[in-house]
Amino acid sequence: MSKPAILTIDDDPEVLRAIARDLRQQYGDRFRIVRANSGASAVETLEQLKLRNETVALLVSDQRMPEMSGVEFIEQASEMFPEAKRVLLTAYADTDAAIRAINSARLDYYLLKPWDPPEEQLYPVLDDLLDDWLSVYRPAFEGIRVIGDRWSPCSHNIKDFLARNQIPYQWLDIERETEAQKLVNYVSNNGEKTKLPLVLLGNGEQLHQPTNIQLAEKIGLQTQAEQPFYDLVIVGGGPAGLAAAVYGASEGLSTVMIERQAPGGQAGSSSRIENYLGFPVGLSGGDLARRGVTQAKRFGVEILTPQEAVGVKLENSYRIITLADGSEITCHALLLA
Ligand SMILES: Cc1cc2nc3c(=O)[nH]c(=O)nc-3n(C[C@H](O)[C@H](O)[C@H](O)COP(=O)(O)OP(=O)(O)OC[C@H]3O[C@@H](n4cnc5c(N)ncnc54)[C@H](O)[C@@H]3O)c2cc1C
Repeated sequence: MSKPAILTIDDDPEVLRAIARDLRQQYGDRFRIVRANSGASAVETLEQLKLRNETVALLVSDQRMPEMSGVEFIEQASEMFPEAKRVLLTAYADTDAAIRAINSARLDYYLLKPWDPPEEQLYPVLDDLLDDWLSVYRPAFEGIRVIGDRWSPCSHNIKDFLARNQIPYQWLDIERETEAQKLVNYVSNNGEKTKLPLVLLGNGEQLHQPTNIQLAEKIGLQTQAEQPFYDLVIVGGGPAGLAAAVYGASEGLSTVMIERQAPGGQAGSSSRIENYLGFPVGLSGGDLARRGVTQAKRFGVEILTPQEAVGVKLENSYRIITLADGSEITCHALLLA
């Protein structure tokens, strides 16, 4: 889990270095110290943090900066991270602006430069603010976020694909959640409208209207076989394919299973299966798929998903399967499940 950020801004490089050093010394073990040398670059940094779903605990900004003052920056930043604590660093001459900002920018504190020694002039104030922030802090969801329109077939396909592959995600409806619209605005797209659905990965990477294959590659699903040859190839990952994979691999056959959507097949969409042997009180299709995949993988089965078999040919005693991307796998035995 990434640490919450403390963002500090000053246009004077020496002051910026000094405040960042003091912050790191006291808070570096629990917070990530991020620096910016202007209001504009600080806003950009905050947008990137938003897209990566990271949290900001504290903003420490110089007041007197060209183009955007500290108060102006704090007002903008508060819209993005309303929970972050706000501190202005001012020279004595700017204290009037700081006092006015207590109301307008809902400033939590203003500190006078220089802040030496920090043990007396800086840390007690910031400790207090950060304790306050931590007492109400709830870590954000860290996984994949999908932003789209709930009526769009493409959004539905992505949600279905992730759910059926047991990948946790957060759904943000562009029409209902203001956060969704804000995130779309932060995505720089060279002035063009961002295409939805937009998928934001945990590392901040963005995928616009991805195909299942593009998504699969980013989230670590295996779509390519590791070897050119297997004892057994199974096409289809429903209950029949999964069962065959478990039996084949448990008998020592090198086995690969090819599934074009998600393991579990039709059964994967069943809310409750009552007549499956060995489960007297029933189980959901998702649960059955998850158990089947775990069991097959334990025996060393490779599961390629999403991947589709589009052709088969015979050559001597071998079967050669052609996949949708044009690659081929050769095997002794082929099972169409
Ligand atoms: C909503 C629902 C509820 C159900 N509830 C029950 C129940 O309670 N009890 C019960 O006994 N049965 C139930 N069934 C029926 C049960 O799900 C099916 O009998 C069972 O899934 C059949 O398994 P299968 O492996 O033979 O085929 P499928 O489940 O159809 O699996 C075939 C798999 O092959 C894949 N595939 C097809 N072509 C290719 C290709 N060219 N390349 C790669 N992959 C390919 C498909 O994507 C699919 O995942 C239910 C079905 C549904 C839809």
